[in-house]
Amino acid sequence: MRRPIVVGNWKMNLNHREATYCVQKLAWILRDANFDYRTCDVVVLPPFTSIRSVQVLAEADNLKIAYGAQAVAATSQGAFTGDVSADMLAALDCSYVIVGHSERRKYHPEDDATLVDETRAILTAGMHPILCVGESYDERKQGIELEYAVGQVNDVTRDLSDDEVSRMLIAYEPVWAIGTGMVANSQTAQDAAHAIREHLASSFSTEVAERVRILYGGSVNSKNASQLMTQAKDMDGFLVGGASLDPDEFSAIVRLTQ
Ligand code: 13P
Repeated sequence: MRRPIVVGNWKMNLNHREATYCVQKLAWILRDANFDYRTCDVVVLPPFTSIRSVQVLAEADNLKIAYGAQAVAATSQGAFTGDVSADMLAALDCSYVIVGHSERRKYHPEDDATLVDETRAILTAGMHPILCVGESYDERKQGIELEYAVGQVNDVTRDLSDDEVSRMLIAYEPVWAIGTGMVANSQTAQDAAHAIREHLASSFSTEVAERVRILYGGSVNSKNASQLMTQAKDMDGFLVGGASLDPDEFSAIVRLTQ
């Protein structure tokens, strides 16, 4: 049985002071609601500069909210100005790191070999990669959205071992749904999650396919999350952008998984 997970991708928002406030408030709301963290993993992905503050708070208050990063370097150290390595993130007790978010693919294009190296670096450092895939409006119009998303999964995972893949999460985030208010309906989300799971079963094994958690991302909020969660059976949770910046809204999405 896969445990549900709700991940907040803060993108380039919340400096270290705002991050501390946001996580503290989220923890308070969930505590007051008697939220049982054993039923769902709750994760926030702050910008690099806010991770240390979240770590200090998490340690001081013994928080059960996990955290991670939105990107990572493919290399382990050296002359790579502006980059942050997987070991640096692991030293901050990060648990999850995004690979291949569509905004990174657009503004910091990386080839598939680099995405594979990033994935391996995250795994080697003991963290979980969250691989983002999903079609743009163009591919959907052509009716090739499932092949496209599955192809992106294949591009990054095909040379990885069963063990490596089973420690990954995959987020289906159709580009047309990100930040637009146009959330995918449950059938669309389920079709994509199902196609990705079938692909994992045929390329790796049914055990791997059963283990990998698949998330939906794109305009998720507390009003639409419930239907997606109950009707998209292959979906294990959400990667939330805008709505994760508001602890009231984000905690409401988290609580819908119970
Ligand atoms: P929004 O929830 O703001 O649409 O962003 C989704 C996303 O890109 C999460 O990674």
